[in-house]
Amino acid sequence: MFFTAVILSFGLLSAQAADKVLFEDSSLSKEGWSEFGEIPGTGGWEVKRRKLGELVQAVVQEVTIEGAGGIFLSAGEGSYASVFRSEDVIYAMRSRNGEQSLVGQADVTGKVGLRLGFDGAFLIYEFRSGDEWSRLGKSDILGVVSYNGGISTPNRANGMSGYRVAEIESLKGVRFGYTNTPEIPGTPWVVHDPFRPQPRQINPGTVTPRDEPSTPPSDAIVLFDGTNLDAWSDGKGNPPKWKVRDGFFECGKKSGTIQTRQKFGSVQLHIEWASPSEVKGSSQGRGNSGVYLAGLYEVQVQDNYDNLTYPDGQASSLYGFRPPRVNVSRRPGEWQAYDIIFEMPEFSDGKVVKKALITVLHNGVVTQHGVEIPGILGHKKTQPYRVHGPGHIKLQDHGNPVRYRNIWIRELKPIQ
Ligand code: MG
Repeated sequence: MFFTAVILSFGLLSAQAADKVLFEDSSLSKEGWSEFGEIPGTGGWEVKRRKLGELVQAVVQEVTIEGAGGIFLSAGEGSYASVFRSEDVIYAMRSRNGEQSLVGQADVTGKVGLRLGFDGAFLIYEFRSGDEWSRLGKSDILGVVSYNGGISTPNRANGMSGYRVAEIESLKGVRFGYTNTPEIPGTPWVVHDPFRPQPRQINPGTVTPRDEPSTPPSDAIVLFDGTNLDAWSDGKGNPPKWKVRDGFFECGKKSGTIQTRQKFGSVQLHIEWASPSEVKGSSQGRGNSGVYLAGLYEVQVQDNYDNLTYPDGQASSLYGFRPPRVNVSRRPGEWQAYDIIFEMPEFSDGKVVKKALITVLHNGVVTQHGVEIPGILGHKKTQPYRVHGPGHIKLQDHGNPVRYRNIWIRELKPIQ
């Protein structure tokens, strides 16, 4: 038995990591490409393009090249990434909405490999001269969109060959989310499932919020009007440590989660927030906070502009349960708004008889609509309901300097 186990583990250790080739066109034929642009009169070609899909994990494009040209990833007009060679310099470039930046460069002559693709939540740009791949740089993804990939070269005589799209075993791939968590009731997904489909990223337009905070309805309870945190405490009755300035308040180092002094049941809540304009961290570490209804149900606050994370943990998700219908995030530092309509659960004889209901608009766009919450939401788990009454609205300290302003709430009483 022991002997067998040793052989088996030895076998595993010595096994070669195998890349999975998803598409290959080593001689650069015309087959399998959705677009093929020839350069008239040269017998060569200019651009070949194919769809790579919406979310790609540890999947890269590779090509071998002797002269000029390269590979690209396109995420729509003005948004692309590329690795290419021009006059013995290899460049890694990235452009988001027309804003171009140089990710890296290297001087290389002779035959080289170029590689561009995904490693989990990042784009990687690499080249190979000899056996080893070298990293030119790494960047954020271009958005949660459908990607096109392809090659471009001024002339086929440049000797480009060996194009392939492959899932690379040595890359880590998914680096956000969990697969060892319990299943979410009523879904095929586990809590924080990285493979759950990502919400599409859309532009919120200018519906809300305005540059200057709007004024609340006359029957609203104002929880923050830009001047003080009198309606809030640190949870122990003390004034919050969050700093008020310029019409907003901000979470600082060890500020702690804060809560309204008053308890609320079913409500309409308006709240505006901004993630830090200086982008730091990735996935759940970027601009993370949260708004808790009745102190128990978190609508996630997070910077999800160009920041992949598990779908049930992104901005406007019901944390650990349900992704938003779309990702309607604004850029880091820009003011964003949640309008939340929350209905309390009802209990009888210690059991839930009506689950909590929630609707969320993120920047004026519906992201959750009349959703039944299955239980108490939390990290890596969803707990069954426990009997509770009205609770404090809480704002989470997740260690990031997230700002809030213009907060008001309306209690939803039964209609007579
Ligand atoms: Mg949070």
